[in-house]
Amino acid sequence: MGFIVGKEAFNRALEKLNGEYAVYAPKLFEQGANFSDMELVRYGVITHIEDAVFDVKSSSSCKEALHPPSQTLFYFTENEVAEAKAPVKKPLVFLRSCDIHALKRFDDVMIENGGADFFYERIRKNARLALIPCKTAFESCFCVDMQANQTDEYDFSVEKDGEQYRINCKAPDMAEIFKTSGAKEADVTVPFVTETKTRVTISGNITNAVASLPLWEEYDSRCINCGRCTFDCPSCSCWTMQDMFYTDNGRAGERRRVWASCMVDGFSDVAGGGSYRKKSGERMRFKVLHKIYDHAKRFGHPMCTGCGRCDDVCPEYISFSASINKLNAALGAGKGDA
Ligand code: SF4
Ligand code: SF4
Repeated sequence: MGFIVGKEAFNRALEKLNGEYAVYAPKLFEQGANFSDMELVRYGVITHIEDAVFDVKSSSSCKEALHPPSQTLFYFTENEVAEAKAPVKKPLVFLRSCDIHALKRFDDVMIENGGADFFYERIRKNARLALIPCKTAFESCFCVDMQANQTDEYDFSVEKDGEQYRINCKAPDMAEIFKTSGAKEADVTVPFVTETKTRVTISGNITNAVASLPLWEEYDSRCINCGRCTFDCPSCSCWTMQDMFYTDNGRAGERRRVWASCMVDGFSDVAGGGSYRKKSGERMRFKVLHKIYDHAKRFGHPMCTGCGRCDDVCPEYISFSASINKLNAALGAGKGDA
C-alpha cells in the first residue's frame, strides 16, 4: 500500500510510533565530527521526520541500534548475578538497501553461527525496518557488484520528495498508523540503483598464495590501525568484554561488551605475549578475505555489501574497494569470478 504524506501527518505517525519504538535514522550532528566545528551525519533517535537526513550517507552504520558500542550484559556482586534488562522500546530503523543486506550478514554471525546471541536476538527480533530508497548511488558505493542494491525486506519505505514523503508500506500495522495520521493513499514504486561509479571484481581464484602477496605490504606503512573502517561498517560485529568495578564498592560491578576490531592493536593477542597479526598489512589481508571470501564460503554471500563507508571514513584514504580490485589483479579472475 502506498501513501503520500506531508511533514505534519508524518510527525503524527511518529508520535504514535514513539510510544512503542525508538526511531533511529541518519541525523545531522552539528560539531559532531572528529575535528572541531565540523558537522557529521550519523545515527541517532528522532522524534520528528525533518530531523532525518535523506540526501547524505551516514558515516556510521545503523548497527548501533541493535548492537550498541557498549552494552551491559549483567550486574554482579560477590554473591549474585543479575541479567541486564532489554531496552524498553523496540528499534525502528531507517536504513538503505545495502544496510538491510548487512543486517542479514549480522544475523548470520549473531544468530545463525552455532546458537543465537541472547542479547542481540532479543533486540533484533523486535526490530522494524524503514527503507530509505536510493535513486542514485553515492561516489564510494559498490552495492550493485555486491548484489545488495535491492531488497523487499522492509516494513515501509520512505522517500523524501520535496516537502512530502512517498511511502510504500508492506506491514499492515504501519499502513494503519499512516492512514489514521492523515496520509493520502497513492501508487508508490520504490526506486533502486542499478549502477555505481565505483566497481569491484572479486577474484574467483583465491588460494593459499594470497598470504604471501606483496600487495599487503603497502598497508604496513599506510594504515594507522584506528579501526574506523570496521567500527563504521554495518556488517562488522566483533566485540570484547570489559568488567567494570564500581568505585564505591570494588566487589560489585557490571560486565559490558564493547565493540572491537581486527584492525586495532591487541585484537589478536594471545597468552604468552604472542599476536597472530602484528602488521597492518596482515590485518588488512585478514579483513579483506573475511569480508569477501570466508563469510561467503560459510553463508553463501559475501559479508561486505558495498556501502562504501570504510572508504569514506578512513583517515589515511585507504580504499577497501581498491584493495578488492588489487587482489583480483594479483590473483587473476579464475573460475567463479563475481
Ligand atoms: S567492508 Fe566497507 S563497503 Fe563493505 S559493508 Fe563494510 S563498510 Fe561497507
Ligand atoms: S580506517 Fe584506515 S587507517 Fe584506520 S584501521 Fe581502517 S584501513 Fe587502517
